[in-house]
Amino acid sequence: MSELSGLRILISGASVAGPAAAYWLNRYGCAVTVVERAPSIRPGGQAIDVRGPALDVAARMGVLERLRAKAVGMRGMSVVDADGAELYRSTERTVSGGDLSSPDLEILRDDLALALVEAGGAEIEYLFDDSIAALDQDADEVRVTFDSGLRRPFDLVVGADGLHSNVRRLSFGPTERFLRDLGTCTAVCTVPNFLGLDHWQVMHQLPGGGLGGAMVMSARDNTEARVYLMFDPETPLSYDHRDVPAQKELVARALAGGGWHLPRLLELMREAPDFHFDAAAQIHLDSWSRGRVVLLGDAAYCGSPLSGQGTTMAMVGAYVLAGELKAAAGDHTAAFAAYEDDLRDYVTANQEMAVWNMAARRAQIADEASGSAEAADTRAAADIESFAKIVSSYQLRPY
Ligand SMILES: Cc1cc2nc3c(=O)[nH]c(=O)nc-3n(C[C@H](O)[C@H](O)[C@H](O)COP(=O)(O)OP(=O)(O)OC[C@H]3O[C@@H](n4cnc5c(N)ncnc54)[C@H](O)[C@@H]3O)c2cc1C
Repeated sequence: MSELSGLRILISGASVAGPAAAYWLNRYGCAVTVVERAPSIRPGGQAIDVRGPALDVAARMGVLERLRAKAVGMRGMSVVDADGAELYRSTERTVSGGDLSSPDLEILRDDLALALVEAGGAEIEYLFDDSIAALDQDADEVRVTFDSGLRRPFDLVVGADGLHSNVRRLSFGPTERFLRDLGTCTAVCTVPNFLGLDHWQVMHQLPGGGLGGAMVMSARDNTEARVYLMFDPETPLSYDHRDVPAQKELVARALAGGGWHLPRLLELMREAPDFHFDAAAQIHLDSWSRGRVVLLGDAAYCGSPLSGQGTTMAMVGAYVLAGELKAAAGDHTAAFAAYEDDLRDYVTANQEMAVWNMAARRAQIADEASGSAEAADTRAAADIESFAKIVSSYQLRPY
């Protein structure tokens, strides 16, 4: 009989943290159900990075080679002015992935999510197009009511449902209490590769010293492109994070009048098959669990896209959470405390790095835009070194 045989676990969210946790919990003998609000694994999202200890997690899950085969394989980046003239070029780093010589893996979010779901196998139950409506826990179990009306009891509930986590709202309180806005927003969507990019990124920064602008990168072997549209709102935005047309309108208004291909990109955004928009924000909680409910990934400790470490923290967190449950033979109180104890320092270092990255990126932009390639490269090399130290400061332990 497996270590956690019979433990009934519900995970909310099927992106990165959820399927990774499902894999490990199933492997340790739990009966795992994953509920996802979207009708299937959600398409879209930017190229995200699997780094350092998350590469070890992927290897232990047996998916590392598959992920490497799906990696975006960028060769470099250019920075262009409003007329498209090149101001800066690098074949050593990219905006989205950082140092190209590192073993880190950059992959489209949907490719990663699918690989993690498939690694888990058929024993894991997926409930798509549904969401948790109510959680009622006592000393013995958590009684869950779903939006669909389904009611089921579980031993534990894991909230892996992202920055705007539903589980966190139901068990910890309103999002605003835990969310720290970093003052910049990004929209990501898929567009045709109309620039003919070959494993390449092109960035155009708006004047003014902020992070606003657009970046286009080829994707899926140049058959399509992903566009990032960025702006710094003057005051924190208030928007419905599920109202896509309103979000598109916000982006279009913020970037109206921009140069380079911005007008075309905004047009393409309106028809894009996928769209992800959010303010860069972090989640800070005093504790990641409440009784039988525990949070994981962005829901617990979002570092924001500016950390470049959201995916790594989600995958490592999934491995540690499941591993600690196994080590504690299912004693969730001990396991949740150990999970948090083990990861807190790493999370804090990465959240601090996001703030530092934002300042570093502004300085890099100024160097790139001034055509000072040497200054940009020297600064980038120093930033990459500090970043790599933090990424590798956590080592996986065996469970
Ligand atoms: C469509 C999409 C696009 C993204 N694009 C980017 C990007 O461009 N740049 C970037 O830095 N990060 C992006 N992210 C976030 C990135 O994936 C995470 O920062 C990181 O990988 C950690 O993953 P996570 O699993 O903790 O959270 P997330 O990847 O945010 O996943 C949360 C999952 O929970 C689901 N969910 C939400 N609410 C409910 C609910 N009520 N019930 C059930 N399920 C629910 C969501 O649909 C999603 O599948 C994106 C996420 C998504 C879902």
